[in-house]
Amino acid sequence: MNAAKSGGHRAEGGGQSLYALGSMSLKYDVIIVGAGPAGSATARYIEPRRSGISVLMLESRRRVGLPIQCGEALPHYRDVKMVFPRIDCPEVFDLPRHVIASEIHGIKFVLPRGKSYFAEVTGRMFYRDRLDQYLFAQAVAAGADYRLHARVHKIDGHRVFTATEKFEGNITVGADGPNSTVSASFQAFSPNRDLTPCAFVIAEGDFFEQHIELCVDQRFPGGYFWLFNKNGEANIGVGMRGTKNVRGVLNGMLRELTRQQGFKIKMTGGGVVPLGGLKKRVAWQHVALVGDAAGMVFPSNGGGTAQAMLGGYLLGEIIRARLPLVEYQRRVDEIMRPALNKSLRARQLIDLARRQESLFLALMRLYDWRGWESFIVG
Ligand SMILES: Cc1cc2nc3c(=O)[nH]c(=O)nc-3n(C[C@H](O)[C@H](O)[C@H](O)COP(=O)(O)OP(=O)(O)OC[C@H]3O[C@@H](n4cnc5c(N)ncnc54)[C@H](O)[C@@H]3O)c2cc1C
Repeated sequence: MNAAKSGGHRAEGGGQSLYALGSMSLKYDVIIVGAGPAGSATARYIEPRRSGISVLMLESRRRVGLPIQCGEALPHYRDVKMVFPRIDCPEVFDLPRHVIASEIHGIKFVLPRGKSYFAEVTGRMFYRDRLDQYLFAQAVAAGADYRLHARVHKIDGHRVFTATEKFEGNITVGADGPNSTVSASFQAFSPNRDLTPCAFVIAEGDFFEQHIELCVDQRFPGGYFWLFNKNGEANIGVGMRGTKNVRGVLNGMLRELTRQQGFKIKMTGGGVVPLGGLKKRVAWQHVALVGDAAGMVFPSNGGGTAQAMLGGYLLGEIIRARLPLVEYQRRVDEIMRPALNKSLRARQLIDLARRQESLFLALMRLYDWRGWESFIVG
């Protein structure tokens, strides 16, 4: 964890193939832009020290994981496996206790006229900053080098530029989130579609219920209002299309809530979620995209942390085995694309059903019957 707080680190010797190139340019086998879940998982599974593949992570934040940009709900491995049946990597989702805030035992769907529908769905609430710092510490322990407060502003072929340094990588990984600079630097990649704005707060109060609440009605087109109970705290937010003032919509909802229940706001945050689906191309020549940069978010519910970790695992394994990146594209197509495509269709169904309460309730009953993974993947 200390590593996440320090300013940077450069490995010397220790079997790493790090060497200076020309005018102050440092060469690495792999340069990973972004140290979120996708970037850190990629670095961790390359296992730089054991594989002898040198890895540098470049992260624009001063402290990994902060500020938080997340609703902090995460599925269990068994549910991830149900959605992506070809995976076999329980260790990726085996998280330490200090990262997990509480267990989720259900979703309460709140409908506009006061009706609600309770679905028995399981999951976990987690502390997002702790998760990112844990994954980052694992990547560093596995032998990855890093720079914090190092925003990549330009990529030219194999060369990667921050404001003060220049690097050269045999492989460049774009793990730099929904507005990926790596992706935008190569015409081969399409931009993320349907970037949906979100605003949220973390509030302290009597939030000890072990379920999460969602309002998925017409007030929140293309998204929803969420209240995720988190062991004496709640992550409360809105993500939706069709407004420039998502924070204003959230504030309105918070005023409603204050009337029902007292709470103190601990922090506010926001961000965008790419809900347009997985990009067609996630690898090209020496460049690979992973996590939000690749559009690995479920369009039906906006969750992307598990897929960022899973994508990082798949990519890390490919690079560690010294296979060409086209093999990563093949594995993503085979393992992740079918469910992510279905999730896009599930989102269209939810968008249709939210127009009418009776339709929405019918859809909920259908999911109860078919299994709640259908809420994600249709
Ligand atoms: C408000 C909100 C709520 C969400 N709620 C949930 C939820 O409850 N559950 C869930 O599973 N998912 C949720 N998501 C989605 C989830 O947060 C993402 O899918 C997940 O963070 C993707 O991980 P990532 O590593 O791909 O990208 P990120 O977590 O975005 O990490 C990218 C990293 O790259 C860094 N970076 C970006 N550009 C550069 C650059 N040019 N140079 C260097 N570094 C750079 C960033 O600082 C960041 O650390 C939510 C998203 C938002 C915005």
